[in-house]
Amino acid sequence: MNTFVQNIYLTKKETLKCISCNKRIALGQAFVAETENHKGTCFACSPFSKLAFLKSGSAALTRRSKKHSSYCGVLFAWNRRRKRFERKGQYVEKAAIAAAQAECSADEEKRALKNERAAVAREVQDKIYIEEFSKAIRAFYPNCPKNRELAIAKHACEKHSGRVGRTAKAKEFDKSMIDLAVEAHIRHKETNYDSQFGRGKTKRAIRSDVKQDITYILRKWAE
Ligand SMILES: [Zn+2]
Repeated sequence: MNTFVQNIYLTKKETLKCISCNKRIALGQAFVAETENHKGTCFACSPFSKLAFLKSGSAALTRRSKKHSSYCGVLFAWNRRRKRFERKGQYVEKAAIAAAQAECSADEEKRALKNERAAVAREVQDKIYIEEFSKAIRAFYPNCPKNRELAIAKHACEKHSGRVGRTAKAKEFDKSMIDLAVEAHIRHKETNYDSQFGRGKTKRAIRSDVKQDITYILRKWAE
């Protein structure tokens, strides 16, 4: 089935108007358009107003119900903390959700097994990656204490941490990224950085306080 797909935004602006009924779209209400800056309609004027809502959560249900529906309105809400729109779910035909649910329960075991295998494969990949990362650390910092390169690599690569080890640059083992990981490690493990908080000093002042110690240790480890 050819599915008509459109984005729906729970707005973060007060200036949006429906091009169909000309009504103003209140803050936090659904605005149907390719991006929030495009011209678009209110939810009532969109083809999605009669459809059923499927919350995000199951990738298989999401994919399959979209496939079975002639319309799919993907709902996004603004995450203020992360400053970005995030997917909340989708509006699709009720029958499409039912069909997708039937398909999903029919091959549930097969998918569980596949997911399990994928998880194991990812874990192996992660392990290899951390080993390579730690080798790169050791190469740049040959005098770093024994096994420390592994601790630094593990910490920097922790999943979903957003830490330096997981950025694209670090994957090429860029020197500046390795430096950042080693620096962070030294700051927390080799200086009194962590114990200085809560005494009226700003983070900035504390950081600049330990800067010299960090530079000194970095140089020693690099020798
Ligand atoms: Zn409208």
